[in-house]
Order: sequence, then C-alpha cells, then structure tokens
Amino acid sequence: MDYIDPHIHMVSRITDDYERLARAGCVAISEPAFWAGFDRGSAEAFRDYFRQLIDFERRRAGQYGIQHYCWLCINAKEAENVELAREVISMIPEFLNEPGVLGIGEIGLNKNTMNESTIFLEQVDLAARHDELILVHTPHLEDKYKGTRMIIDMLKGDSRIRPDRVLIDHVEEHTVELALDNGFWCGMTLYPVTKCTPARSSDIIEKHGTERIMVNSAGDWGPSDPTAVPKFIHEMRMRGHDESTIRKIVYDNPRTFFAQTNRFDFTPRS
Ligand SMILES: [Zn+2]
Repeated sequence: MDYIDPHIHMVSRITDDYERLARAGCVAISEPAFWAGFDRGSAEAFRDYFRQLIDFERRRAGQYGIQHYCWLCINAKEAENVELAREVISMIPEFLNEPGVLGIGEIGLNKNTMNESTIFLEQVDLAARHDELILVHTPHLEDKYKGTRMIIDMLKGDSRIRPDRVLIDHVEEHTVELALDNGFWCGMTLYPVTKCTPARSSDIIEKHGTERIMVNSAGDWGPSDPTAVPKFIHEMRMRGHDESTIRKIVYDNPRTFFAQTNRFDFTPRS
C-alpha cells in the first residue's frame, strides 16, 4: 500500500533507510525541523540546517522516488535560549517560499517552561502572520498531558489560528481527545520504546475513528523505526480493517492536511 510518513527526521538516517522506505510503499514524507541531538551554537547553524532540509534531503529522497517535504522552526529544547530563538525566527521568512516547505513546525513544549511558552507563542504568531500550517510537538511521558493542555490553550487563545490548519503530534490515549475535540488534526508516533506502538495506535483508531488522525514513525537519531508505518498497516490488516480505512489514515489524511498549503505539490503514483 502506498503511504505517507508525515513525521520523520531523515537528516539523521542513512541513505539505505530511503531505500527501505521506498520498498515498503512510502511515496512521500514530511520532515519537521527539530533538535539535532546537540544544541546548535548560532542562528547560522539553523540556516544551514534549513538548507539541508529544503535542498539536500529533498534531492536524496527523490533518488528513491520519495517526495520530500519539510517544516521550519526552532524546536522547544533550543527555545530555552530565547535570544538565539528570536534570531532564528526572524530568519525563517526567507525560506517560506521555497518548494516543499509546508509550514512552521515542529514547535511545542518539551519541559513546559516559561521560555518554551514564550517562543512557542512567537512562532504561532509567525505562522499566523504568514498564513502557514502548524505542526506541534507535544512533550514526553509525565509532561505530556499538562503540556498538551497548555499548547491547546495557547492556540485557542489566538483567534487567527484555525484548528483544522494545525497538527498536534505525538498524541497518546490520554491526549488524543484533547486534540480531536478541539478541532485539531493529530498524529500518533510509533516508537519502539515510548509513545505509541502499532497495537496501541490501532486501539486508539478503533475507539476514536479515522477523522483528522494519522500515524508516523518520527524516525530520528534515537531508538526509532523508520518503517513503523507499514507495521501499523499490517496490524490493522490482521485486525480485519478494510484497505480503504487503513489507506485513509496512512495516505488520504496526510494528503488532505498538507494540501492546505499550495507548496504541497504531491503527485500520486500512476
Ligand atoms: Zn519530531
């Protein structure tokens, strides 16, 4: 089955992973800007990172027939350095007309601190001023419920933000309703250790349905599985779900959400 991985960090993966993804049916990916495993020392380092996402990864993916899209921002971890964060934010508009840039993300909270909230709001403002889609990272484990609540309150507090133009990512059993009931799109991350598994995310689908929801691997530099989405497809098949239901989650939904920006120039496989 053709599928789209709406959240994967290919800068931290080897080229062989592109080949594995392509063989598993991946036709497009979207790569949010995130932490690189270390704190960058200057805004110029982010400029290089954005160029890597926009030019190099798009080309590398293209060699395997995978269409590559990306998101730009400063992530919550590095937002603790407010001065650096503001320098990066002021640079982002330079890149907003580049092909394949889908919007601002993944912005969000990590430890739910004041500085993180300040920079989150400034990036929401950036998205609103430029009419960009938003992709949101929600915190891990014990910080997740509170952080997701804070994020949704901040988004709801800005009347310019339409929930159907925002994707709240890394939802789990206790946060999925917060996102869906407030009109947002949401993503479930399939991780080998934390976050969701194919079985848990299938349970969530069976309980909450297939509207405004998608699954991703969030494959990155840590323990993660870039081919997690095909494992979800397999799990859903084993449970007897029909192909069109599965396809809606792994292909139609990301397409519908991304198509809200005209820089999503996706061509389906003929
Ligand atoms: Zn991520």
